[in-house]
Order: sequence, then C-alpha cells, then structure tokens
Amino acid sequence: STPATTEPPVTPMMAQYLEAKAAHPDCLLFFRMGDFYEMFFDDAVKAAAALDIALTKRGQHQGGDIPMAGVPAHSHEAYLARLIRLGFRVALCDQTESPDDARKRSGKTLVRREVVRVVTPGTVTEDGLLEPRSANHLVALAEVAGTLAIAAVDISSGDLVTEPTAPDRLGAALARFDPSEILLPERVLQNPALFELLGDWKMRLTPQPSARFDSENGRRRLQDLFRVGTLDAFGSFERAEVAAAGALVDYIQLTQKALPRLSPPRRLPRGAVMEIDVATRRNLELTRTLSGDRRGSLLAAIDRTVTGPGARMLASQLAAPLTDPAAIGERLDAVQALVEDGRLRDDLRTLLRACPDGERALTRLGLGRGGPRDLAAIRDALRQGTALRDRLGAPRFLDLPPLLSRAAAELGEHDGLIDRLARALAEELPLLIRDGGFIAAGYLPELDELRTLRDESRRLIAALQQRYVDETKISTLRIRHNNVIGYHVEVSANQADKLTQPPHIGTFIHRQTMASAMRFTTVELGTLERSIAEAADKALAIELRLFADLVGEVTGRAEAVSSAIRALAGFDVAASQAELAVERRYCRPRVTDDTAFRIRGGRHPVVEIALAESQGGAFVGNDCDLSEERRLWLLTGPNMAGKSTFLRQNALIAVLAQMGGFVPAEDAEIGVVDRLFSRVGAADDLARGHSTFMVEMVETAAILNQAGPRALVILDEIGRGTATFDGLSIAWACVEHLHETTRCRALFATHYHELTALQARLSRLSCHTMRVKEWQGDIVFLHEVAPGTADRSYGIHVARLAGLPAAVIGRAEEVLEALEQGKQGRSVARLVDDLPLFSAAMARPTTLAEAAGPSEVESALAEIDPDAMTPREALERLYALKALL
Ligand code: ADP
Repeated sequence: STPATTEPPVTPMMAQYLEAKAAHPDCLLFFRMGDFYEMFFDDAVKAAAALDIALTKRGQHQGGDIPMAGVPAHSHEAYLARLIRLGFRVALCDQTESPDDARKRSGKTLVRREVVRVVTPGTVTEDGLLEPRSANHLVALAEVAGTLAIAAVDISSGDLVTEPTAPDRLGAALARFDPSEILLPERVLQNPALFELLGDWKMRLTPQPSARFDSENGRRRLQDLFRVGTLDAFGSFERAEVAAAGALVDYIQLTQKALPRLSPPRRLPRGAVMEIDVATRRNLELTRTLSGDRRGSLLAAIDRTVTGPGARMLASQLAAPLTDPAAIGERLDAVQALVEDGRLRDDLRTLLRACPDGERALTRLGLGRGGPRDLAAIRDALRQGTALRDRLGAPRFLDLPPLLSRAAAELGEHDGLIDRLARALAEELPLLIRDGGFIAAGYLPELDELRTLRDESRRLIAALQQRYVDETKISTLRIRHNNVIGYHVEVSANQADKLTQPPHIGTFIHRQTMASAMRFTTVELGTLERSIAEAADKALAIELRLFADLVGEVTGRAEAVSSAIRALAGFDVAASQAELAVERRYCRPRVTDDTAFRIRGGRHPVVEIALAESQGGAFVGNDCDLSEERRLWLLTGPNMAGKSTFLRQNALIAVLAQMGGFVPAEDAEIGVVDRLFSRVGAADDLARGHSTFMVEMVETAAILNQAGPRALVILDEIGRGTATFDGLSIAWACVEHLHETTRCRALFATHYHELTALQARLSRLSCHTMRVKEWQGDIVFLHEVAPGTADRSYGIHVARLAGLPAAVIGRAEEVLEALEQGKQGRSVARLVDDLPLFSAAMARPTTLAEAAGPSEVESALAEIDPDAMTPREALERLYALKALL
C-alpha cells in the first residue's frame, strides 16, 4: 500500500521491506537488520504472540506506529522451529551485500536485501527443525482429466516417487508418507468431493496456483532437471503423476531458490505395497500410539537401528510393507544372515554407531547451506563405510546374501575424497563457515603463511607493547583490542599525562577517554592492525574458497556418496531386524503367493515387551490358522481376556513379515496380504465431530466396500455402539458379507454369542474363544485361544473387578438370570414386563441407597455428635454401628 501524499514518505528501508513482504504475503517475513531478524506490522503481532517475545515499535507508517518484534539472528533457528511447528511459513530476507559494497554501489548505506529462502514444513533441512529418526515428506497432489496422482519427496534423501491413485486410495497413500506439507492446485479447494477426501490432512495443505500443475510444463521441467529427452527411461508416467512431480520440483525451486539433489522419479506401481488406510494405521498404532506418541508404537518396539538414516529407512519400510514374495525374501535373507552371524552383526553395529547423519548433511551441502561439520559428517560416514566394506571382505563379498552384497558394492570406494576431507578439515570445527578456522594447518601453504603472518603480527604487537612500556616507563601500559575501536594503547587515567607531553606527544594519538583509563593509537599500531586484518580477511577468503572446492567435490560425487549412505542405512536396518529377532526370539516367516495364514505361537510385539518391562508375566503365544477352509474366525470371550490383543498381533505379524522382518511367533506362513483393514476398539473421534458409532460404521463400510480376496481384515466388536438388536443384526450381516462376498481372511471378535450360530450355515467360518478358568467364584484369564464358543460373557465379573458397587453387581446378576431364562421362549419385551425393575430393586432390604427413608445405620449415624465423645465412646459406637449391618 502506498502512503497518502500528505503522509511523510516511507523510508527507503521500509520500502524495501514492503516490497519483499508483498512478494510473500502468506509468510512471516524475517527481515535481517544487523544482528537481528525483525518482523513488522501484523507479522510482528503474530510472531510476538506465538513466540512470547516483546512487541515494540519502530517509526511510523500511514500515521500509525509500526509494530516490531525481533529475534537474534544467531539463535533464529529455535524460533523458526517453533513457528514452523505452529503452522507458519517464514520467508528469510537477508542482507546480500555489505555496507561497504552498498556505499561503493550507490553512495548510500542501505544494503540490498533479498528473500533467500522460504522455510516451510515440507522443505526444512536443519537438524534443529527435524526429527532425527523420522522422514519429512513433501507431497504434491495433482488431478489431470479425472485421474489423481501424488508425488512425494523427502528432501533429506532426495528420493522422489510418484504414484497414480484413486479417490478411495488417496487416504492410504497419504498415510504412508505422513506428509508434513501437501501441495495441491487451488481449484481442488473448490471441489468439495475431492477436498473431503483429504480428511485429517486438511491441516497441512499449501494450495498453489493451478497453473503450476500443468503436466506439459511439468514434463519439460523434469526432462531438463534430469537431462533426458523423455521421461520414459524412468517408467511410463501418467500425466497426473508428471504434473504432481513437476509442481513439487517447481515449489522446491521457488521456496529454496535452489534444488537439492533429487533422484529421478521412481514410479510406484499400483499394488507394489500393502495398502493400509489411515484408520487402520492409527488403530494398529504402527508408528504412533492412539495418543500420538512414538513410544508404545510398533515402530518403537522393533527399532534397533543406530543411525538416523537407518531409523528413517526402517520407518519407511514399516509404512510400506511389500507385496512381492521375492523382494520380501531378499530382505529376509539379509536378516537371517545377520541373525546367524552374531559376530558380524555386532561388528557392523559398532561401526554404524560411529556414523553421523550423512544424508541430511549431503542435502544441506547440495542446497548451499551446509557448514564445515556437514563436510565432516560426510567424511566420517564414508570412512565408516570403508571400514564396513573391509569387514565384509571387500572386494569380493563372498557368502553374503544378494541384498547385502549389493549394498556392500554400493558402499563404493571414496578413499580420495575421505583423504582430502581428512587432510583439509581441522580437528575442532565451527558451526558456520564465516567463523573460519576450519581448514587444518598444513593443508595449504598459502593459508599457513597468512596465519603465520597473523600470529606473527600478534607477536609483533606484544613486542610493541614491551617497547612502549620501556620507553614511557609506564609498567601498566597495555595494548588491547575491542570491536569498536580495534587495537589501542591503554593507560590508567593518572598516567595518561605522560603520553600527552613530550617526548611522547607525537607518537601517541588520543582516541578515547574512559572513567579510569585513556586510550591512544599510534602509527605503528595502525600499520600492524591493518596487516592483521588483511591477513585474517585473506585467510578467511581462502578458507571460503577451499570450502566451496570441498563442497563441489562432495556434490560432484553426490550420486555415489548418496548411495553409500543409503547402503549404510540398509545395513543398519538389516542388523536392527536381526538384533531384534535374536533379542526377542522372532522367527523367519515364509511369505507365499497364495492366501495361507498359519501362525504358530504368535505374540503381540508391543504387549509382549510391555509385559516383560512391568514384570506382568509371560505373554501367552497363540495359533491362528486362516487357511482357505477356515478363513473367517469368530472370536468370543469376556472383556479383558485378550481378544483385541490377539486380533492386532496377527495383523502386526503380517506387517512385519511383509516389511521383510522376522516375526514374534514360533512359526509363520503368510500368503501375501494386499490390503490390511482394521476396525479395532473405539478410537475417540469426537474431536472431528463424529459420533463413535458413526465412525465405526464409516470404517466398516470402507472395509466391506474395498476389501478383496487377498485382504486381511480385523473387526473388533462391530455394532457395539448401538442398541443390542441393531448391533447384532449389523454384525450378523457383516459376517455374512465377509464370508460370501469379500471372501477374504478375517478375524472377527464379538460380544454377540448369537453369531456363533452362523457356523452351521457358513462353511468357512470357525469359532474360537478366549479360555478362562473359574476359580472360587472368580475368573482367571488364561489368554489362550481355543476352538469353540464362550459359554458366558463374564461381563459382570469384569464389572466387579472394576469396582462397581456390590448392590449394582447383585442386581445385574438377577437381571441376567431373568434374561437368560427369557431367551427360552418369551420375547425380551415381555421379559421386561415380567421384571418390574424399580419395584424389585426397592424390595431388597440391603440396597441402602434405593430403600425408602433412612436405614437403621443412617439413623444411628445421624445421632452421633463426634465433638461430644471421648475416644472410648467413639470406639464403642463404632462397634455398635458395625453390629447393625
Ligand atoms: P479384550 O480385547 O478381550 O478386552 P485385551 O486384548 O485388551 O482384551 O487384553 C487385555 C489385557 O490382557 C492386555 O492388556 C494384556 O495385558 C493381557 N493379555 C492379552 N493377551 C495376552 C496374552 N496372550 N498373554 C498375556 N497377556 C495377555
């Protein structure tokens, strides 16, 4: 906005600010001023509130004060992290020239400023802004001529994938990447049907002008980027995939003003991975628990990796279990080799532990925002890689399974680079290049000379000080340095006279008078100071040049370095899986192409660990056989007997097996599962404004509509959220549908014992129950799954364990008995008439709360006046009261 003519004109700097802000209206603009990043106007107000920093004012604009808030530049990363987490986008507007250059250029002191980068959730690369053990995906969604596709990239690894998707699969595809930011064309926002599909992801959208999703432009951009004449070399992409990938690359270029190394787009064909929708992931707590923590999730339970890239690779394998038995078998072979060779496993893990996160360092270097420590990270990662190669018997990796020997070969040879980095980098490294001092002594004679000169000058200054002391006879005379006036001679105030009189008057030139000291300069000191500064400047310039050379050397070999780092991550993952298998006695699953599902002695990977940690006793292993002739299991049993645990463990075993890991069982044979569904427990969705029952039905509908014959379905207590007969009928119909139409493998836990009658009609339905033992009127859960049906539900026992009042328990038993008799002939409606609830209850003398009028005990209590009693009387009264019961 331009100020009205009567207003004072905006200052040149404010004009600069307003221009940058106008180009980034959707961002908070961090405007660099000296040692601070300042924000103005609304940005300042928002940032001050979000960061809890002071809101001040600076100057005037259009007749009002300009609100201002600032953060120190040296610690701005921490503030950035908070803002990004709160969902802001931040444009960093830096000074791109020095005041000196500005003066030379324009005769003015206003320095050039430019937005050098837009920081967004999907594009951050700083360690301080990222979780070391989780990937950070940026996803673009495109729609071309009615087909949908997504493209996803983790900037840390540069891994770019695209995949066509369909409306009913979009949620599962997004859930796999768990993107922190989703780009989509603005026009999708006007398409309610498509917009609805985004579900919970709506919080992470970054709408972009629809024109950026043009598939022809996208194709050209990708062809230019990867220097190919056609994308066919990478696969046959649909137009929507190209549009999505193009928009992704475009966005990175626009916000980062640079492109990190990206791998050519890899196409994920439909069906290459096990599909798991959002609800199922959440219910099964694959990477996070229902309350959102990593702790307690399957991932946390199985993760034994020791490096950041390894942890991220493991997480991505868990998010996308494979469907090709051969590929799964390769991973399993690698794990098995490391299970069998414990020495090798230990050695690998020891070497890997010393491996820094080279992946993220490489990305930062590629984007031109790396530091000396990133170079060191590359050096150390490659060095560990070499050690690992040697340990594996380079150059011929005999006896290694294919996956590991391929990875070993990918570690490559980087001796030249490692050696150069090792020689070039100093022992102690600063965080930022501009601090200098990161090039090792002895690396470049020219630099050593300048440093000698600098050190020599420092010695000369010390000698000069001594000479001045001798000449002036002021023993306390010192040569000091500060950032304002540089080098100076300092004497105490009462000695200063000596320097302002002959014979010294011509030598010492007065600079500053302090309270107790006086400061002078001399021609000799000035000359020395200049040569020190010059040497330091020259040295820094050389270091910067060397840094650029070294970075160039690394990025010039980015492909090879990156595959070495990925290979290391692969070893970390395989060794982690092997370590877990040995530690927790997992077995190698047989993953086949049919629809077998036979687990012997299966366990729940998370509950098992929780039990061990809390000394809650051993986990009871259970078999599960969903082979063709009994592919649908109906599981009954009381609450708390272990039904959900059993259901979940079988799903988790399938996930673990297909991600290529060993599984918590004695033996497992699993025909590849193409889609996994679960409807487990009551995920509390009130926050999204749905009733629990509605959510349950929506999820059930998705399962029945989408599951095919190769799916694995887990349903826990369908219909529980509504009236008994309603619920029973729905559950009944679902079982029939699964059996007759879907024909998939399924586990169905239910409270409705009536369902077991279906066994007579449905040939592939088999009934199982959680065994319990009755003992002295109590029940003991054995956590054993056995054929048959539960004869009772024991709900009342559980209610007693939970501490429901004895009166309520007694009454419930009475009602239950009447209901059970009722089943034999009369309808429930009649039954209720026969059992007048309230009169029956009131007739019971022991139900105090419900009896009419105060009871004897209550009357006796009312008469007591505690203050008027001796302790002895009180005790007697207590005995009397007790006797009334
Ligand atoms: P349900 O679904 O039948 O109500 P859960 O599956 O929630 O029961 O199990 C209740 C608790 O019983 C679990 O939290 C766990 O501590 C314990 N449990 C379940 N299965 C087993 C098992 N196989 N071995 C040992 N303890 C188990």
